Amino acid sequence: MYLKSIKAYGFKSFADKTEINFEKNINGIVGPNGSGKSNVVDAVRWVLGEQSLKSLRGDTSTDIIFSGSKSRKALNSASVTLTFDNSDMSLPINFEEVSVKRVMYRTGESEYFLNNEKCRLKDITNLLTDSGADKEAFNIISQGKIDEILSTKPSDRRVIFESAAGILKYKKRKEDAIKKLGRTDNNMDRVNDIIAELSTNLEPLRRQKEDALKYLELKKKLKDIEISLIVYDISNYNNETNSLKERLDILNDELANLSSNSASYDVDILTKKDEIKKIEESISDKQNLFVELTKNIEKINSNMKVLNERKKYNKDDDKVLNNILLLKENILKTENIINNKKVELDSLKENIDSLSNTINNYEKELKNLLSKKNKISNDIDSNNHKLTNLKYRIDYLKDNINNDKSIPNSIRKIMDNPRLKGYHNIIGKLISIPDEYNTCISIALGGSTNYLVIDSSKDARVMVNYLKDNKLGRATFYPLDVIKSKTVDNDTKEKVSKLSGYVGVASDLVSYDDIYRDIMLNRLGNIIVADNIENANNIGKEINNKYRIVTLDGQVVNVGGSITGGSINMGNNIIKEKQELNNSEFEYQDIVSKNKRLDSDLKDVNKNVEECQNLIYQYKQNSFEKRDEYNKINDFIKEHKASLEDLNRELKDLEAINNDNTDKESEMLLNTYYAAINNRDNLASEITNLKNKKDNINDSIIEIEELSKQSNIYIKNKEAEASKIELRLNTIGIKMDQLLMDLNEEYNMTYSAASERYVLDIDSDDARNKVINLKTNIRNINNVNVGAIEEFDRINERYNFLTKQKEDLENAKNTLLEIVDELDSVMKDKFIKTFEEIRQEFKKVFVDMFKGGEAELILTEPDNILETGIEIQAVPTGKKLKSLSLLSGGEKTFTAISLLFAILNVRPVPFCLLDEVEAALDDANVESFGNYLYKYRDKTQFILITHKKKTMEFADVLYGITMQESGVSKLVSVRLDDINE
Ligand code: ATP
Repeated sequence: MYLKSIKAYGFKSFADKTEINFEKNINGIVGPNGSGKSNVVDAVRWVLGEQSLKSLRGDTSTDIIFSGSKSRKALNSASVTLTFDNSDMSLPINFEEVSVKRVMYRTGESEYFLNNEKCRLKDITNLLTDSGADKEAFNIISQGKIDEILSTKPSDRRVIFESAAGILKYKKRKEDAIKKLGRTDNNMDRVNDIIAELSTNLEPLRRQKEDALKYLELKKKLKDIEISLIVYDISNYNNETNSLKERLDILNDELANLSSNSASYDVDILTKKDEIKKIEESISDKQNLFVELTKNIEKINSNMKVLNERKKYNKDDDKVLNNILLLKENILKTENIINNKKVELDSLKENIDSLSNTINNYEKELKNLLSKKNKISNDIDSNNHKLTNLKYRIDYLKDNINNDKSIPNSIRKIMDNPRLKGYHNIIGKLISIPDEYNTCISIALGGSTNYLVIDSSKDARVMVNYLKDNKLGRATFYPLDVIKSKTVDNDTKEKVSKLSGYVGVASDLVSYDDIYRDIMLNRLGNIIVADNIENANNIGKEINNKYRIVTLDGQVVNVGGSITGGSINMGNNIIKEKQELNNSEFEYQDIVSKNKRLDSDLKDVNKNVEECQNLIYQYKQNSFEKRDEYNKINDFIKEHKASLEDLNRELKDLEAINNDNTDKESEMLLNTYYAAINNRDNLASEITNLKNKKDNINDSIIEIEELSKQSNIYIKNKEAEASKIELRLNTIGIKMDQLLMDLNEEYNMTYSAASERYVLDIDSDDARNKVINLKTNIRNINNVNVGAIEEFDRINERYNFLTKQKEDLENAKNTLLEIVDELDSVMKDKFIKTFEEIRQEFKKVFVDMFKGGEAELILTEPDNILETGIEIQAVPTGKKLKSLSLLSGGEKTFTAISLLFAILNVRPVPFCLLDEVEAALDDANVESFGNYLYKYRDKTQFILITHKKKTMEFADVLYGITMQESGVSKLVSVRLDDINE
């Protein structure tokens, strides 16, 4: 290996591109003072990574860039390339020629290239370390530095020996290992600090976690039992309500019948009392008749006495005849009257029958009306109950919507915080949806209903940090500056618009402010809405299930063709709540108008009932009157029939008188007398019968009154029972409302959802006791922190992770310590071996060079091989051993050169750059220096910068450097003959 060439451009005085091609053996560089020769040495050092400004003879790192001259402008960069011949493969790289290049810009930036590939300085250092061409080696000796080897401290001198021993790479490795050890120790300190801090937090967190787990377990148990109990109670109340309502219906029917019966009792009593009145009148009439008859009997009796007297006198025949005629006339008149009255009586009878029928019909109608009235009242009551429930639900939903209660807590906290800016609202509140699309849009939006729309992703970061710092849970943000729209492609749109059941693209069915267009299209722009699941399936097939399809009733055909369907869970979200509010308000108004209709129906029915009752009363009144009249006519006929009999009897008597004589008259009187007696007896028995009848009727009135009384008591009992049932129904209603409210507020659950999942499988009393105990236990757990569960797991995981990391670090530290030990032992061995070899060589070379004398290399700390310095002792021939500083300049140079050659003997280097090292030597010593060089010329390439002609004579080739143009170095060809010393 040797240095083939140096190419410099912009480096110090080399303003022009300059290339020096070196020979393999001895090269000389000559030129006047200040022409730039030493800049060549600087260039080599610089490329090899020299950072020391002192070594490079500058004040700042960019001082190496050509700074301009009178006639040339400054350059902005400097570059130097060293090309090595590596055909002997000394450098561990598979190239026969290796170029190393460094470039620096005015900005201070440096770049390195290895065979024109950009690389790091480290790559170059690694390649050259221990090759003998690295910057620490003894092979580049700058101007005036040769003496430094003697004057420098013993400890600084050891680097030359280390380089010669080839342990720099081990030293570098050791340095790396020690740096790593330092970093490992730092890491371990940090890990230990964190572990200590974590372990102080861990215990309280463990307890908080245990409390939180216990709390959650109790809450879960409570939830299971309490919901089951509520479901059990509501179901029982429901059953009780149903059976109570059934019973109430029966009672109301019974009451309707009873009140109609009670009315008929009153009517019966009135009828009977009228009958009694008539019987009493009839008795009084008959009693009068009885008196008349008694008088008549007495009269007949006296007539019989008169007749017995008259039997003694003649009779007056004409008078009798006239009386007969008169009687016949009276008989005819009476018969006519009777016949006329009979006709009247028949007509009355007909009238009475027809009235009875009418009354019956009205009574039937009354019964129907009462049952209709009962039903309407029940319907109104049940509607009122529904209205109370709906009113409660509507108020609850309005409260939720107006106060954003369905919005997740985390988002509410953000919107309530006046310091957080940039939010708009949740998607669900920024969209308006026609009623018919509420279900499908709600399903299409899904959880994103509650995503918060914000101005920018920057705002999102602030909000996320706020939620994190305050442990307020999670939220999803949709920044307007980030979210992009999604759409159904035009081909698909055109295709599906022709298919049956296609309703539209979800985003086209809703309205929103145009600034939210991208957000809404992102959520709904690629979702198709179909009318039903069959059509949705067909549309899906036609478009290869490329887009999600949602039906109006909320079934979903997903991308790929899977189907999500079933009943819709009305969980909490603003759209569902608005929809439910609309439905509930609609239902509420519907029931209110139904109730209005029912109220007016009830009024109508009440009016009809009243009218019907009045009519029944009037018809019954009329019927009584007709019966009364009937009885009177009947009595009248009976009376006239009795008079007719009297007249006939009288006529018979007179005809007997007329035909016969006093005996006949007497016989007639006797007959009349017995007939009258007979009549009077009959009348007496009739009176007795009537009195009996009256007594019977009175008895039946008492009976009916008793029945009516009992019926009233019965009605009162039934009414009391009915109002007790109504009271109970009210109480149950309130309790059920309370239970439903508890279910909703505590567990956010509807009864139907709860009853599907929860069944009480223990005794209800036991369950109630358990609920009380669980609630007490839950209250007894103070300051529950549910977040501690995750927090503990997180910290515990981190604690375990760090403990493991600590172990790893300890292992790594031990490994590094082992490596350092191994490196130390290798370095010690190599150093000692090389040192000893150089020592022996130095002794020889010194004697050789000085033609006698003595020299020695001594370790300053032989017990500390890794740090020992090296002392040089040199005694030229015939002189006494004295301090090195007392040697002459030439002696010092010669001693240092001896050391250089001793090292070259032990460890030959590929090339050696010596800048005027022999300047202090006289010609004789230059001669022996030159001869020595010549010995090594086959093993080592020499590049000598010199002013001495003697030295130049040893060079195989000479290069001249001049500075013809002021301030710029140039390479010129030189012949030895041209050199004047
Ligand atoms: P001597 O024989 O006296 O040792 P030399 O040939 O070794 O001289 P150098 O030390 O290599 O000379 O060159 C020094 C010259 O380089 C000076 O003239 C200096 O002005 C010039 N020089 C150094 N740095 C720059 C730079 N950044 N830009 C321009 N010229 C520079």
